[in-house]
Amino acid sequence: MLIRHRMQAALLARATALTLACAAVAACAGPSQTPSATPVLPDTRTITAWIAEIEAQGIRRPGWAADDWTEQWAAAKFREWGLQDVLLDPIAVERHEEQHWSLTVWPVGAPEHATEIPSWPIPLSANADHLEGELVLSPTLDDVKPGSIAVVEYPLMVMDQKTLRDDVARWHHDPDNEFETLQQVLPMGERFQKVMDPEIAAGAIGYIGILDFPWDDNRYYVPYDAKPRSAPGLYLSRSAGDRLLAMMRDGPVHARIEHHSERRRATSHNVLAALPGRSDEWIMIGSHHDGPWHSAVEDASGVALVMAQARYWAQVPESQRPHNLLFLLNGGHMSGGAGLHHMVDSRREFLQSDVVAAIHLEHAALEATVVDGRLVPTDKPEPRWWFTSYIPQLEDIVATAVCKQDLRRSLMMPPYGWPRPQAKHPPTDAAYFFSTTPVVSLLAAPMYLFDPADRMNMVDVQALEPISRAVIDMVVALDGVSAAELRAAEYLPGSEDRRPPDAQDCGA
Ligand SMILES: [Zn+2]
Repeated sequence: MLIRHRMQAALLARATALTLACAAVAACAGPSQTPSATPVLPDTRTITAWIAEIEAQGIRRPGWAADDWTEQWAAAKFREWGLQDVLLDPIAVERHEEQHWSLTVWPVGAPEHATEIPSWPIPLSANADHLEGELVLSPTLDDVKPGSIAVVEYPLMVMDQKTLRDDVARWHHDPDNEFETLQQVLPMGERFQKVMDPEIAAGAIGYIGILDFPWDDNRYYVPYDAKPRSAPGLYLSRSAGDRLLAMMRDGPVHARIEHHSERRRATSHNVLAALPGRSDEWIMIGSHHDGPWHSAVEDASGVALVMAQARYWAQVPESQRPHNLLFLLNGGHMSGGAGLHHMVDSRREFLQSDVVAAIHLEHAALEATVVDGRLVPTDKPEPRWWFTSYIPQLEDIVATAVCKQDLRRSLMMPPYGWPRPQAKHPPTDAAYFFSTTPVVSLLAAPMYLFDPADRMNMVDVQALEPISRAVIDMVVALDGVSAAELRAAEYLPGSEDRRPPDAQDCGA
C-alpha cells in the first residue's frame, strides 16, 4: 500500500463508496503501470486536446454536470495510467445557476415610458420580486441614499508591470524588457469579491454595477466566495450603462429589479491520486477543476498541466521518482475555494510535516486585447506569476527552471503581503497551503478570467510543454531535499540581506 502514515489515515478516513484503492486491487494493474525506459512527456497536441475535451463539456461550475464529468474523466485517466489510491474526496459546495432577471427603468412619474436595459445578475446577490426604487448614481459611498438603488461604475484594476517588477517581485525573467512599459488589466476590481457590499452596507436596497471594462459584456462571474448577499444586484455592460446614465442625466429614474437564481448545496469532489517514490515524503502537484464558464484557461488548462505531470511520472520507475507524488485537482474553487479549504482542514498534519513542496498550476493564458468591444487573444503570454515561499533553495529551483524553459514574462511573487499589505496569502487556489507547506503557485491573471470569452483560443498552447518541463525540473531538483530541511530555511522578507536567486539574469 503506497499511501502511508498520516496521508493514509487522512485518505482512508475520507474514503467513500466512490473510492478505488487501485493499489489493493490486482485488476487495476495493467500494462500502463509498467514504467518505460524513457518517459515521454505528453506533447502539445495531447495536452491541448485534454483542455478542449474538458471545456467542451459546458459550464463547469461546482455542482454542474460538466464539472462532475471532469472529476470522473481525471480519475479514469489516473487509473488508466496506473496511479494509485485514486480518490474522489467529497466536498460541500454552493451550486449557483442564474434563471431569470430583468432591469426595467422609467423617468419618475412616467411609467408609460418604461424600458428594459439588458443586464446580468450578480452571482450570490439576493433574489427579488418586483423590487422598486429610485436609481441614485453613487460614485462614492457618501452618495448612497438609503432606500434607493445604487448605480456604480466598476472598473478593473490596471497594474503597471514595472512597479510589480521593481517593488513586488523578488526575481523576474523578461529578456525583452517588456515589463518596462507593459500594463496589465487584472480580472478584479479593487474590491475583489466585495463588489456590491459597501453600497448595501450603506443602506442601498439594490445595486447596479456598470462594468467599466475594456470590453463590452455584462457576464462577470464575481463574487464567487459562496456568501449570499442580502440585496439583489445586476451588472450592465459599458454600452448598456451609458444608455442608463444618459437617461439619469435627463432626470430622476425609477427602476424595477427582478432576479431569480438558484442556489443550493451540492457535493463536489477533490480528485487525488498518488505515485510512490523513493522517499517517505511527498511532492504535491495540483490545480482546480471547476470554473465559471466553459473556462478553457480557468482552469481546464491547469487540470491538463497536472495530467501531463501524472502521465509523465507514471512512466518513471518508482526508484527514480524523487519523492512520493500526490496529484490533486481541487473542486469548489468557484465556491469559496471549498476544495482547498477541505484539503487543508482534513490533512493539515500531513501538509505541515510530510509534504516537501506543493506545486500548484493555474492558467496557461494568452494576453488578450479588445477589438470592436470584443476580447481577442494576442500571441503573447499573460505575465506569469510564480508565488513562491520565502525559501532560498525553492527560489533557486523556480528561477533555474523558468530560465531553462525561457518562460518569459515571469515574476517571482511574494507568498504574502500582496496585493494588499495585510494579505496573509496570495490570491490563488494554493492560498492556504502557504501556511502549511513550501509552495510554488503559478498563476496568470488575464482580464477575461471570469468572462465567457475564456475559450480555447485564449489558451497559451505554446507554453504547455515548457511549463510542464519546468515543473519536471522542479520535482527533480527537490531530489534528496527533505520537508524539514526546506522549512528550516524559510526567511522573513526584509529581515536579512537576502541574495537574489542564482539565476537572476538567467546566466546572461
Ligand atoms: Zn484557476
